[in-house]
Amino acid sequence: MARPSLTIDTAAIEHNARVITRLCAAHGMTVVGVTKATCGHPEVARAMLRGGVAAIGESRLENIRRLRAAGIGAPMVLLRVPTLSQAEAVVSAAALSLDSELTVLAALSEAAVRRHRVHEVILMVELGDLREGILPDDLIPFTAAALQLPGIRVTGLGTNLACLGGVAPDRENMARLAALARAVETTFDLRLRWVSGANSSALELIAAGGMPAAVNHARMGESILLGRETVHRRPWPGTRQDAFLLEAEVIELKDKPSAPRGTRGEDAFGHRPEFADRGTVRRALLNLGREDADLEGLTPLDPRLTVVGGTSDYLVVEADGAPLHVGDRLGFTPNYSALLAAMTSAYVAKRTRIGAHS
Ligand SMILES: *Cc1c(COP(=O)(O)O)cnc(C)c1O
Repeated sequence: MARPSLTIDTAAIEHNARVITRLCAAHGMTVVGVTKATCGHPEVARAMLRGGVAAIGESRLENIRRLRAAGIGAPMVLLRVPTLSQAEAVVSAAALSLDSELTVLAALSEAAVRRHRVHEVILMVELGDLREGILPDDLIPFTAAALQLPGIRVTGLGTNLACLGGVAPDRENMARLAALARAVETTFDLRLRWVSGANSSALELIAAGGMPAAVNHARMGESILLGRETVHRRPWPGTRQDAFLLEAEVIELKDKPSAPRGTRGEDAFGHRPEFADRGTVRRALLNLGREDADLEGLTPLDPRLTVVGGTSDYLVVEADGAPLHVGDRLGFTPNYSALLAAMTSAYVAKRTRIGAHS
């Protein structure tokens, strides 16, 4: 096989989903398994569902449609707040969406009424990370307006952390979320089914018993896919970090100087990389580039290999004593960003295998 390939071990994903859903269940939380980094790969979703997730979370309608077309009947949650122009499609594809704009809710309401459906929404509130979310001071008037919309059922309050601003969930911001949920419930005399506070950044807080009891809903992606919490990116105890393997082929292998020669300007991507002169080194070129993966996010399986850098179509690896040959396929573990890029790239072949249970 000439192309780079990404092999997905569905048994590892199922195992990780089981570890994460059991932990969350022990703390009263229901888990949505997030497949977006795999572009809604049906086998990944099936593995998560076997491992115990209650629903599948996706950021894009295309991915939800892909999952439905593959015959997956589980509830689907749209994670990215919907575009105004896609309200109709959102209502038909997902039973539940996360929302933060009244104009969009009004469009969802019209679409739901037209389709004789009830569309459930979790209102997203901003608690410090500064991505999506209603400001806490606006929550009560926002909710009052949302409750007037026919065809819309406000089923929850949620927040998203540790994504744009890198703000970790802690007892304080989670208590704030629980208090805001209580304020909505008492002001409007209703019960919110979901208080959705957690993604993979909340595992330490959950395991330490620091999550308020009111927070009963989690949306988990990276911890199930890659077996890591996302505050420190530490492997999560009992999970596997080997669910994805990216492989590419050695297409040139030579001893070369370690430092470039000549007048130095910018590289192909506008950076000015520094190279230490360490004499002559064994360098391998692979058929893997930025069109295939985020090269900074790759860890070679063989510890004697070091990623030096890469361009659109080449990855350059230094081989410290590793016995390589032209034509060898080398394996890398992708981080979240490299996984996302490799899954999205049309140049990377994807295949699934059911590896050994650990
Ligand atoms: C991507 C996403 C998640 C999943 O986050 P992980 O850190 O991968 O667990 C959860 N919620 C929302 C809103 C998301 O967009």
